[in-house]
Amino acid sequence: MSLPFLGEHGIIGSYLITDERQTALIDPGPTSTVTALLSELREAGFDPEAITHILLTHIHLDHAGATGTLARLLPQAQVYVHSQGAPHLVDPSKVIASASRIYGEQMPTLWGEVEAVPAERVHSLEDGNVLTVAGRRLEVHYTPGHAIHHIIFFDVHSGELFAGDVAGVRLQDVDYVRPPTPPPDLDLEAWFESLSRISRLRPDVLYLGHFGPTRDVTRHIANLRERLIAWGEIVLQAMREGKSEEEIREHLIAKTQPELERVARDPQAIKRYDLATNYPMTVQGYMRYWRKKHPERLQESPPA
Ligand SMILES: [Zn+2]
Repeated sequence: MSLPFLGEHGIIGSYLITDERQTALIDPGPTSTVTALLSELREAGFDPEAITHILLTHIHLDHAGATGTLARLLPQAQVYVHSQGAPHLVDPSKVIASASRIYGEQMPTLWGEVEAVPAERVHSLEDGNVLTVAGRRLEVHYTPGHAIHHIIFFDVHSGELFAGDVAGVRLQDVDYVRPPTPPPDLDLEAWFESLSRISRLRPDVLYLGHFGPTRDVTRHIANLRERLIAWGEIVLQAMREGKSEEEIREHLIAKTQPELERVARDPQAIKRYDLATNYPMTVQGYMRYWRKKHPERLQESPPA
């Protein structure tokens, strides 16, 4: 399902799996698209009240902001999330504060209100858990890097992998993977490990949070890995040169946007990728990563 984020389709995805007894929503999206989500479900012939499970890849507001609101509206729905994400659903104040540092006054327009989820509805998941939902067997794999509490859901039988953001951002009909690298959890080493893990599972299809299915899994993952490194090096180099955050942002845009323009041939693609994962957030994430995890690399002198 495509949630109409700021009126644009094909940016934020939510996935529904169902059988006669159970219906699960994977990453319900932000509160700002709840009304659209519910009416789309009804139009597709599903009764939202039949939703039994809400599965979260991670708790960022574009994936999970609506969870509290849905828990209130859908009395049967139980919420499943990694143990490190669970406390932030029950008390979303830190998540809201963290997002506010990135989005400021745009918060209500972008994400809407974030309601707490009652603790008794939240179920903690760990790496290696297996969920039996809607006739499927979903393996839970811990995949940090984008977020410290990120997990993916893998259906071994169908080969479908619900990837959240750990497999990057690639909009439909554009052959371009962008690394979504928000603060404060960005961890490249953990991310590479998570990508290796996904590769080892040999999925047939990745369902990306932003957006839709990707079937050329090997090449997709290789592209993401390469770009995570390349973009990080651009930011690191600019930090060594003493550039300000704003200058680094402009520099990164100048260095990377032409490639997307070339590949996409659609001026709207730039705007659409920015809606899915924007440059200010990307730069803040990398800057924090280098400062916290690799201060030694900031000391190296720039090549002459
Ligand atoms: Zn996201």
